[in-house]
Amino acid sequence: MFLHDKHGRRISDLRISITDRCNYRCVYCRSGSDGPQFPEMPIADYLRMAKVFVELGITKVRLTGGEPLLRKGLVEMVRDLAQMRTLEGAPLDIAITTNGHLLADMAQPLADAGLSRVTVSMDAVDPERFARITRVANGYEKVLAGIRAAQLAGLDPVKINCVLLRGFNDDQIAAFGRFARAEGVVVRFIEFMPLEEDRVWSPEIVITLDEILRRMAEFMSLREIGHTGSETARRYVFEDGIGEIGIIAPVSHPFCGHCSRVRVTSDGKIRTCLFSVREHDLAALMEAGASDDQLADFLRGVVDQKEGRHHIGEPGFIPASRTMVHIGG
Ligand code: SAM
Repeated sequence: MFLHDKHGRRISDLRISITDRCNYRCVYCRSGSDGPQFPEMPIADYLRMAKVFVELGITKVRLTGGEPLLRKGLVEMVRDLAQMRTLEGAPLDIAITTNGHLLADMAQPLADAGLSRVTVSMDAVDPERFARITRVANGYEKVLAGIRAAQLAGLDPVKINCVLLRGFNDDQIAAFGRFARAEGVVVRFIEFMPLEEDRVWSPEIVITLDEILRRMAEFMSLREIGHTGSETARRYVFEDGIGEIGIIAPVSHPFCGHCSRVRVTSDGKIRTCLFSVREHDLAALMEAGASDDQLADFLRGVVDQKEGRHHIGEPGFIPASRTMVHIGG
């Protein structure tokens, strides 16, 4: 009854991009100017898709983008998602990934609406470097205020996503260690993947899990804590027990064998892998008047065909058909 693919993986985790607009232009993600954007669907359409997925066994929904906090109706959307129940009768686990720029004012309403967790992306812990990465002035203070508002609203622990690029922000590793300890956030380093608009990725730029561990140990030793197979992040605490670090290593230690994800793009296409070169048009099916049962049959067939793994760094690697900002990270 649950969604499975032909490799035997259970699909329990849905990511919905509710817009591909973004108010940041992070250098490793977007180009310096706005390119073409994909259409956005009415929020009600994402909710209908989510409901069909939940009836197929999805237990976690993450809203992303683009920048999801730019989308009007987000709080109401979270409230409607919070009314849904998993097949086991539990509330959905509802998360948002955001750059945090607008979070200070929205954290409490989102928490009140039923948001379970928030992940804030942050690639430097000093204001000047932060501005160079995001290409936005005065963002750092806003994001910091957003993180603190999320903690106060009970969205605790706040997770921070940080993508390190060699020669650009990899000198921030120890500073992030201090930040995790001082702010009580979980800092998760994500290895840079070839999903950027400017096509600058090369293996040499990636700061791998092994290197992060080695360099963080120069600041303070880490101890690994329990790792379940389905978790994407390897988790560590500092030797004195204060401060948690996670490392998500899709490049050096791929975890495709445990992937439980499927994605909906802002224009209603299903992507079964970040690196998919083919999408499946759920929005068109809805527009054509398909019933929920027909949508569910379609999704079962699509998910069955989920890619076995990505091919980052291999000869003949074919880039994904969209970049990260248009997929939804
Ligand atoms: N705007 C939101 C944000 O900033 O978190 C959500 C969308 S953003 C695309 C989601 C996540 O993808 C961010 O944590 C970002 O750092 C990460 N990301 C973007 N491009 C990436 C890449 N090429 N490799 C690894 N992570 C990337």
